[in-house]
Amino acid sequence: MSSLPSVITRFAPSPTGRLHIGNIRTALHNWMWARKAGGRFLLRIDDTDAERSKEEHVAAIRADLAWLSLTFDGEARQSQRFDLYERRFAELIASGRVYRAYESQQELELRRKVQLGRGLPPIYDRAALALTDADHARLEADGIKPHWRFKLDHGAPIEWNDLIRGPQRFDPATMSDPVVRRADGSWLYLLPSVIDDIDLNITHVVRGEDHVSNTAAQLQMFDALGAAPPAFAHEALLTGSEGKLSKRMGSLGADHFRDAGIEPQAIVALLARLGTSDPVEPVADVAPLIESFDFARFGRAPARFDEGELAQINARIVHQLPFDAVADRLPSGLDAAAWEAIRPNLETVAGASLWWQVIEGPVAHNPEPEDGDFLIAAATLAETIDWSADPWRALTGALKDATGRKGRALFLPLRRALTGRDSGPDMATLLPLIGRERAIARLRG
Ligand code: GLU
Repeated sequence: MSSLPSVITRFAPSPTGRLHIGNIRTALHNWMWARKAGGRFLLRIDDTDAERSKEEHVAAIRADLAWLSLTFDGEARQSQRFDLYERRFAELIASGRVYRAYESQQELELRRKVQLGRGLPPIYDRAALALTDADHARLEADGIKPHWRFKLDHGAPIEWNDLIRGPQRFDPATMSDPVVRRADGSWLYLLPSVIDDIDLNITHVVRGEDHVSNTAAQLQMFDALGAAPPAFAHEALLTGSEGKLSKRMGSLGADHFRDAGIEPQAIVALLARLGTSDPVEPVADVAPLIESFDFARFGRAPARFDEGELAQINARIVHQLPFDAVADRLPSGLDAAAWEAIRPNLETVAGASLWWQVIEGPVAHNPEPEDGDFLIAAATLAETIDWSADPWRALTGALKDATGRKGRALFLPLRRALTGRDSGPDMATLLPLIGRERAIARLRG
C-alpha cells in the first residue's frame, strides 16, 4: 500500500469572480507549504453555488495559477461530488448531528433583534430541536421545506493550536448551529468543505482569518464524521497601503498586474514574505523562498500590500531576467546583447521597446547652439575610430583630446544626439548597438 505524502494542501476558490491579490496569496502559501514538504497541492473549485459560479471564472483561475507557475497535483470540483456529500450527510442525520429547521430569514432576523434588545447574543435559539414528528409532518404538509443545521456539541470548548494564531478557544454555546443545507437541497460551504478535506486527506488548511469561526464549527464536523482534523493556519488579512481593506484591493487580480507589466516572480517574491518576519527580497527564483517559508514567521497583524513596493521588486527582478525568459515578449531584432544593455534601465519588460526604438531610430534631437561645432567634430571623429572594440571609449577619448571638453559637457551632448534623451542605458553598451552608420548620421543631425 502506498503511503500518503506528509503534507497535502488545497486552494479552494469559489469561482464567483477573478482571483484577487488576497486569494493569490492564499494559493501561493498552500503551494509553497506543499512544495517545501515534497507533498501535494490540490485545486478545489468550490462551486456549490450554481447561480454565482461561472465557468469563465474557473478558466481564469486556472490561467492565473498557470501564469504564477503554481502547479497543482490534482483538482476536485464540488459540483461533481454531490453523491459523496449526500452519503456523509446521511450519516450525520443518522447520528442526530444535523436537524431540520423551518424559520424564514425574516423570522430569524426578528428573533435576533429581540435577543439584541434584551442584551443576549444573537444566536439561533434551537427552537426547531423541540419540533415533534407531528410538527414536521404538519409543516411539510403545508409545503414548507426544511433547511438543515449542524448541531454543535456544547459539551466542551472547541480548541486548536493554529499554526499562525497560536492556541484558539471557542465556546460552542455562544455560536449558532450553522445552516449546512438550504431548503432547496443546495449545500452551503461549511460541510462540503469538511467532507472534501477528509476525502482528499488534506493535512493543512491554509486560509484567511475571516474563516476562524468557521473552523470552530468545522472542527466539530470532522469529529462528527469520525475524522481527525487537519492542521489550520489562518493568515492575517492583507490591507491596502492606506491601512484598510480597500475595495480596490479586492479588484486587483492577476490580469491587472500582468497588464501593468508585473512579472509573476515579483508577485511571488512579495507575497511569499509579506506579513512575515523575513525581509521581502527581489528573488526571481522561488526555491529559496520555499526553503525559508514557515507559518511560525507570520505575524498576526494585517499585512500591508503596497503596489509601489511591488513595482520596485518587479524592476529589480526584470534586471535579473535572462534573455531566454523574455525573448518572446521583445520586439523582433532585439537580441541578447541588446537585452543585456537595456535591462538595467527597465521597470517592466515592455519598457524594452522604447530603448529598442532608441537603438533603431529615428531619434529626434535639437542640439543646443553651443554644441553645434562639438557634434560636427564628434561626427568626423566617429568616422575614424575603431568600431570593433569599445567605440564609446574611443570616441569620447578622441573628442576630449580634440576639444578639451570633459565630464558632463563631453558626455551629455553626445548622449542627447545619439539617443534623443538625457539619460538611459550605459552609453558604452548602447553605442555598439546603435552602430557606426546610425551614430554618425545622428551626430551630424
Ligand atoms: N471557498 C472558500 C473561500 O473561498 C474556501 C475557504 C477554505 O479554504 O476552506 O473562502
